[in-house]
Amino acid sequence: MENEIKKGGISVETNHIFPIIKKWLYSEKDIFLREIVSNATDAITKLKRLSSLGQYDGGDEKYSVKVTLDKDAKTLTVSDNGIGMTEEELEKYICSIALSGALDFIQKYEDQNQNNGIIGHFGLGFYSSFMVSDTVEIITKSYTGESAVHWTCNGAGEYEIESCERDGHGTDVIMHISEEENEYLDKYKIREILDKYCSFMSVDIFFKDEDSSEDKKEEAEDDKPINNTSPLWLKNPSDCTDEEYNEFYKKVFGDYRDPLFHIHINADYPLNFKGILYFPKRTNEYESYEGQIKLFYNQVFVADDIKDVIPDYLLMLKGVLDCPELPLNVSRSYLQDNAYIKKVASHIVKKVADKLCSMCQNDRDKYEEIWRELKLFVEYASLRDRKFHDRVKQSYLLELCDGKFMTVEEYLKDCEETHKDIVYYATDKELQAQYISMFESQGSKIALFNHQLDTQYIGMCENADDKVKFKRIDSDVADMLKSDENAAENEELTKLFREVSGNENLNVSFQALKDEKVPALITLSEESRRMDDMMKMYAGMGMNVGDGQFPTEYTLVVNSKSPLIARLSEIGRDDPEKSKLMASEIYKLSVLAQRRMTSDELKSFLSDSFSLLGLL
Ligand code: ADP
Repeated sequence: MENEIKKGGISVETNHIFPIIKKWLYSEKDIFLREIVSNATDAITKLKRLSSLGQYDGGDEKYSVKVTLDKDAKTLTVSDNGIGMTEEELEKYICSIALSGALDFIQKYEDQNQNNGIIGHFGLGFYSSFMVSDTVEIITKSYTGESAVHWTCNGAGEYEIESCERDGHGTDVIMHISEEENEYLDKYKIREILDKYCSFMSVDIFFKDEDSSEDKKEEAEDDKPINNTSPLWLKNPSDCTDEEYNEFYKKVFGDYRDPLFHIHINADYPLNFKGILYFPKRTNEYESYEGQIKLFYNQVFVADDIKDVIPDYLLMLKGVLDCPELPLNVSRSYLQDNAYIKKVASHIVKKVADKLCSMCQNDRDKYEEIWRELKLFVEYASLRDRKFHDRVKQSYLLELCDGKFMTVEEYLKDCEETHKDIVYYATDKELQAQYISMFESQGSKIALFNHQLDTQYIGMCENADDKVKFKRIDSDVADMLKSDENAAENEELTKLFREVSGNENLNVSFQALKDEKVPALITLSEESRRMDDMMKMYAGMGMNVGDGQFPTEYTLVVNSKSPLIARLSEIGRDDPEKSKLMASEIYKLSVLAQRRMTSDELKSFLSDSFSLLGLL
């Protein structure tokens, strides 16, 4: 082909474009119908504009596009009553296409298989009809009243023009479907393409299947347009109800559930795009988060597989975006580094963040109700994009162990008296029940972080804001749990606990705790535990992290105010065996209150407990 271009110089003839169209648009053939129907709606829009400018008086003319399938004649016809073309216009717009630009483009991208941009980009939309047709006819009559013309062109690009008759202004494009493309003579296929690409076009579109004209029921169907000419996204948000938004969502995305919430975007100059985004509901945590953004260009469907219009951490959103600033035929590569698209994407991020904040502030009950479904998304998105984090952090809710919700700010205010600037959290409500009740008995609230991502999220929050710290409830003994008394170290008991724990280096510390019923508890430094968690996570992901055993810095805190500990000291003097049994039980119960025991630990704990019962 390159050779031919060279030989022909820049005055390339029409017939060169046919093989190109056939070859390069092979994969997305369905779009021919979108091109022809959108030309028809454009022709009507132009006439309406002339009428609004007072340059044309159509009276109460009803504008519509009719798509007619005639299986016997093997034709698919798109008719409109739009502006039409004079013979001169037909020659200008249809016969002499701006080929040189298109061919440059084609040459440039020949090796890259990035060809979807040709059509539309260079005004070749009409010619896409040749992807499926042997011959295409145009019968057109201009609104100016000039006589109608009939153009016939075969697949080699040879055409004839003659004058003809046509009732009224407008254009018929008659596509003679080629033998090998006869799937386009199937009414379901055509209906499917129309539904996909033309559902929201701005002029009523009727589909008629000649074969079914005797079937009364179907005829009734034919009376209704297949499209909705005023889609919800074009309306003013204040004129739309929640029901309308939900109904639109269910219809467009085939979901039977209502979405969690929606965001109606109406961006003015310079971005100039409209759209509705939905946050879908999941039935369970394992259901994949896979959304879909349907991209439109002035109500004409363009694509729903373009990922770059929103950042990937928002990909679970579903929605429609109408971007008249984009060329109709966008390709993935076109969008990747497109400055406009980047601006659209960042506008969307801002809108999503604003929506979360406004729900948190103005509709708190509903926000709390759906928070569990939002939380992981907010954490993930915040981890991915610091700007997003900055925007939504005040709307991040802590789920508390008592089932309530609080923002971090509310939490810190609430606990100002007991523990300033620290958020205490549990990771397992059952396992850590003992610690939780110690805190709650002092009037403190405990957040619940029971997902792996939570730890990463709080780490990022601490980095982003050095004022707030997050500590697990077993990471140290919070001041509010301590009494004012000093606790003396007790070397004998330290030795004893080291012995019964089987760890001669066990950290043992003596503290006077308010809760006298607790003889001892185990603490595990926040830093070393987080490190440990991270290593375990890496190991779980199959990374090589040594032997998988990590020394953790835990401490046995012995409560000097506990009567049980006082007893232990007393007994130790007279009956070392008994005191060993008692110390061992206290140690193991402390372990039990802090973490899951290993099977060996559990076996030994049970056997010791049974021996202890024997002493009663
Ligand atoms: P584009 O629509 O991108 O300009 P096309 O190849 O699809 O490129 O169409 C070329 C031109 O032919 C249009 O700009 C329009 O002027 C004219 N045209 C095509 N279809 C119609 C129609 N149905 N009615 C009137 N004019 C049309």
